[in-house]
Amino acid sequence: VENHTHEDRREVVYSQLEKSGLDVLLVSFLPNVRYLTGFTGSNALLLLSPGRSQLLTDPRYTIQAAQEVSCQVTVVKKSLWKYVPIVVGRSRWKNIGFDSTHLTVELLHSLQSALPLGAVLQPAPPLVETARMVKSESEIAAIRQSVNTCSSAFERVLKRIRPTMTEIEVAAELDYEMRRLGADGPAFDTIVATGPRSALPHAHPSTATLQTNQLLLIDMGASQTGYASDMTRTQSIGKISPRLRRAYGAVLEAQLASLDAIRPNVTAGSVDRAARRVLRAHKLDKAFVHSTGHGLGLEIHEPPRLGKADKSLLRPGMVITVEPGVYLQGLGGIRIEDTVLVTETGCEVLTPTKKELLAL
Ligand code: ZN
Ligand code: ZN
Repeated sequence: VENHTHEDRREVVYSQLEKSGLDVLLVSFLPNVRYLTGFTGSNALLLLSPGRSQLLTDPRYTIQAAQEVSCQVTVVKKSLWKYVPIVVGRSRWKNIGFDSTHLTVELLHSLQSALPLGAVLQPAPPLVETARMVKSESEIAAIRQSVNTCSSAFERVLKRIRPTMTEIEVAAELDYEMRRLGADGPAFDTIVATGPRSALPHAHPSTATLQTNQLLLIDMGASQTGYASDMTRTQSIGKISPRLRRAYGAVLEAQLASLDAIRPNVTAGSVDRAARRVLRAHKLDKAFVHSTGHGLGLEIHEPPRLGKADKSLLRPGMVITVEPGVYLQGLGGIRIEDTVLVTETGCEVLTPTKKELLAL
């Protein structure tokens, strides 16, 4: 099924709902609400049931919900959670599925005690997350746009980078250019790390000025029409040591090996292992301290995870990152990351930015 419209996506979940023995799915996680309805506000609950789906939101979103949402909308003045038992009672639902990864124990208890007699809350399988893993044509188009915005912003800023700039200044320039190019904003906090700080895989930009004859690692992504992109590039400012240069070559080789391993019906884990195998041959596998990648879409991190033991099968239409890295304490870190579409025959690297070691 091509899940083009929000109605189509709800249909896909409805068909799974019955198989799970549920009358209704209570969707509280906002990216899932957005995926199923188009609603982009910050407060909503969706009660998903064939023919009777209902979005609950508060009066701040009356106009917005009417514009964005195609299913029934109920504007609730009090807590949305307190209104759920009323809808459940009216609809005579008995088996109510909830998302156990996003509902707190406190909410679960108070909701269960307020439900009509005979109505039971049950942890639901990840129906929406599973549907979200394979992207529709329109979602892929949105991700392409986001990827291009990210790369264009990177290339614009690269021309302006000077050794006197701080990490924070570079990050601010990148965020500014992404917005200028149409992004809603950065998809996550932009990482700019210079010299030995690049060995921290998730370094926050600091007031440190860029160091010459050192590495500069930039990890950035745009969010555009809600869809994320994700890219990491490592360059040198001036000349770097032969050891770092060799490590760069090894990471690039590992990244290309992982890209080569991507095709439908292979496990996510096999893509991870392809990168690890290359780094082991270079005696750098112990310096690769995270998984090879992750799915992305409405969120920057979505299933599948590309970890060593991950058994989920890749399918055409999945969008994932491939981002092996090597981190050498006191020297620096190298990561190369692309956003990649799984195709019928292999993969398409969406990120257009060059990957050779660039000396600024
Ligand atoms: Zn990244
Ligand atoms: Zn990433």
